[in-house]
Amino acid sequence: MRRITLAVILFILLPLVSYSQISIRIFARSKPSSLIFSTVKGACILTDGAAGEVRLSQGETVAVTRYGDRVIYSTLSGIRGVSDSLAFSPAVSGALFTVRAPGSSEPEKNLTGTLTVTSFPGSLRILNITTIEECLPGVVRAEAGKYGPSHYYGAQAVVARTYICRNIDRHNLDGYNLCDDIHCQVYPGVVTDSVIVNACLSTAGLVLTDRDSIMIEAAFHGNCGGETASSADVWLAGYPYLVSVQDPWCSYSASSTWKRSIPRSEWNNYLRSKGIFPGTEGAIYSANTPAPGRITNRTVQGKKLWSEEIRLRFGLRSAYFSLSPAGDSIVFNGRGYGHGVGLCQDGAKHMAEKKMSYNKIIGFYYPGTIIIDVKYARRPARP
Ligand SMILES: [Zn+2]
Ligand SMILES: [Zn+2]
Repeated sequence: MRRITLAVILFILLPLVSYSQISIRIFARSKPSSLIFSTVKGACILTDGAAGEVRLSQGETVAVTRYGDRVIYSTLSGIRGVSDSLAFSPAVSGALFTVRAPGSSEPEKNLTGTLTVTSFPGSLRILNITTIEECLPGVVRAEAGKYGPSHYYGAQAVVARTYICRNIDRHNLDGYNLCDDIHCQVYPGVVTDSVIVNACLSTAGLVLTDRDSIMIEAAFHGNCGGETASSADVWLAGYPYLVSVQDPWCSYSASSTWKRSIPRSEWNNYLRSKGIFPGTEGAIYSANTPAPGRITNRTVQGKKLWSEEIRLRFGLRSAYFSLSPAGDSIVFNGRGYGHGVGLCQDGAKHMAEKKMSYNKIIGFYYPGTIIIDVKYARRPARP
């Protein structure tokens, strides 16, 4: 009875969120102090909080710079102003504009929707207010690459949408939803690749949930090496849908095996840091061939050596490896690329090439999950 009451309370406390609009902080990594805005297609309106509205015709460029706690701007056609905040909004539907940060290594972005610019301590705060469906193709291309079959992108679109919706409150305290950097999800701006755009459209609104309609932790990686990893083994957080599955679909890829040598001295230093005397660890070595299965940890004299920790320490392509000594070196023979949890991109791509649908791909890599419209899905309770 108490559990039922708790479930009802949780449901009330977790209202269905509107996912129609999203605000993304642009250039979150470089945090520039100036910005160049140009209209590419259609006119835009620049709303200057101090003076009113300026119509920016197609091809117009505006330079914006932080000036203390205000921003100053000047247009190519000679209009200047200073204001607490600026808003660039489309004057016609389908208006497209670009933004770039002078002096930054971040490439320029094509954007739609509205852009707001305010002064922030040390930088400009540039927010793009758009919709999830509008920005999704860009996110999918950044994650899934430029070339692939449509159902591969369909699977990635559902995964990316699930991530965005599940984490929609990530920057609530900062006054926006997500940033455009790897901290949240890389957003390169709007893209026009028709296969990706159509894959997003054909899955519009769909997200992945567990059996309680809670949006899942939709992890993915480059190549699992033939066996995905359980999240419990990698992150110590177990989910019933992030369990290890045997994957026959990714072995075609060059990423499915790898080999790496490190100096024996580095390895010995690592052993010492773990309280293991070099020369006593012989039992953990195996034949110099790729590992036959994932080994989460190896034990030497009661001390555990975790594969994931070794991967991070030595910058290995994956935590799926066997290792053996060879002269003054330790040789790792490994499989796969990335953490190995959830969807394997190389495998998903091959499944799609073999005419399997995005739902089948998702069901294979996230067993027991359900694809539903986001309006029926909920976010997990935050502690
Ligand atoms: Zn972020
Ligand atoms: Zn795989």
